[in-house]
Amino acid sequence: MNCNDCVERLYAFLDLELDEKELAQVRAHVAGCDDCGDQLGLEARFLDRLRDCCTSDAAPRARHPEDPRRESAGELRPLMC
Ligand SMILES: [Zn+2]
Repeated sequence: MNCNDCVERLYAFLDLELDEKELAQVRAHVAGCDDCGDQLGLEARFLDRLRDCCTSDAAPRARHPEDPRRESAGELRPLMC
């Protein structure tokens, strides 16, 4: 695997969409390649931030039990993330 192969699989890697063989190849390449290691670190932090956003957005909903009534009425809620 070269750097292009690695970058092409980066998002699939982070989304856990690779099969075991490709996962192992990306891990092996990143372990030995500073460029791709940096890139992977940046993307991973970006995705972490997205997940934090979704998590903190979902929390207030759980604290307001009156909200689910609107959902059960079939009202569509806009997705914030
Ligand atoms: Zn590389």
